[in-house]
Amino acid sequence: MNVCEIISVGTELLLGEILNTNAPYLCGALAAMGISVQRVLTVGDNPARLQEDFLAALRRSDIVLLTGGLGPTKDDLTKETVCKALGVPLVEDPAQRRAIDAFFRRRGGECGYSNYKQALVPQGGVVLYNANGTAPGCVIRHGEKLVALLPGPPGELRPMFQQALKPLLQPYAGGAIVSHHVKTVGLGESRMAELTAHLQDSENPTVAPYAKEGESYLRVSAYAATAEAAEALCAPVIKNLQSLLGDYVYAIDQSLEETLLARLREQGKTIAFAESCTGGAICAALTALPGASEVFRQGYVTYANQAKQELLGVTPNTLARFGAVSEETAIEMAEGARAGAGADLAVAVTGVAGPGQSEAKPAGLIWLAACNGKRTVTRRLDTGRNDRTYNRTAAAKAALALGIAMAAEDGGLVPA
Ligand code: ATP
Repeated sequence: MNVCEIISVGTELLLGEILNTNAPYLCGALAAMGISVQRVLTVGDNPARLQEDFLAALRRSDIVLLTGGLGPTKDDLTKETVCKALGVPLVEDPAQRRAIDAFFRRRGGECGYSNYKQALVPQGGVVLYNANGTAPGCVIRHGEKLVALLPGPPGELRPMFQQALKPLLQPYAGGAIVSHHVKTVGLGESRMAELTAHLQDSENPTVAPYAKEGESYLRVSAYAATAEAAEALCAPVIKNLQSLLGDYVYAIDQSLEETLLARLREQGKTIAFAESCTGGAICAALTALPGASEVFRQGYVTYANQAKQELLGVTPNTLARFGAVSEETAIEMAEGARAGAGADLAVAVTGVAGPGQSEAKPAGLIWLAACNGKRTVTRRLDTGRNDRTYNRTAAAKAALALGIAMAAEDGGLVPA
């Protein structure tokens, strides 16, 4: 299997000003071609460090992909640095110069000297024309190895990779890497890892645990000559994991909201949510999906006690006796939402997002309730964290998971 390294160039990446989305995009695309990405490096706009890292990557790998630093400004030095390191001169490409002129004519702007810097290409290299900007990419062959330079903006890099670079990488492609995620909720990462420990030594497919706020995944990745053969290696391991983890597994690859939408559609059911600490995040997640209108009736964001009373019918007595974050309030919120929205199913969540501590109601304490007209179920979640973002996300995920569990149950009639 041919190995590749990716070098993302740009001081803004190291300052934390922008997120490196190019590298994961390329990693996924290369894995699908059966090219193994073994390192991703990020380097600032510094020619000496870039040269050092580039030469090290070239020694280790069959392919080196560099992204960014191809533009017209003085700090865009990727091409110059790589060519210098390889001893390849830069020459003007007439077609690229015409393309730059045409680009500026179309835009009605002035083309300055610095823009023509982008018409310089490595002698003997392959120019990757840029349909979405002025900086061309290029490919330089170095013996058996291939070096490719791609522009930084993702809107330029992605089409250039797909249309121009991918065909040139085909001779290096060998088989396919396929990955699937076995997704669980309600089970901590360490427990999930313990239950599946014996499978984590496997080499092909590999099985690796991951934790995300409120849910845990196992990634199953296989390498084989074809995508179909890699799928065939993954399938029995996924089945095995499903039987080991039982009901904790809510889906393979799908997100919680996608799974909930699919279950509700299968059952022909509608849902409503009553949200307090999540502030509308559950409704936002579900309605971000196309097709949500078939299943989603209504959401209530009832932050204040008064709103819980007026919109959901939570009684003042319940609030006074048990407080807003309580099982009793969650039940009344869910039942009120279901009746008010005329939905088959309603899920409610109320919790302490934090930060802040109180002994009786610590940050991370969340009560959930779901009702379907026949029965109302509750769940207590205690994340043990004093982290507002984590707690809100975990609460939203727990609510979606409860919706999934209840969606398959037979419910009662929606009151007229
Ligand atoms: P340009 O012609 O736009 O200057 P370039 O190839 O020189 O292209 P950079 O100057 O390095 O690219 O980056 C331009 C912009 O592209 C950045 O400001 C950023 O918005 C985006 N970008 C660069 N690298 C990345 C990356 N690795 N991931 C996501 N976005 C990136």
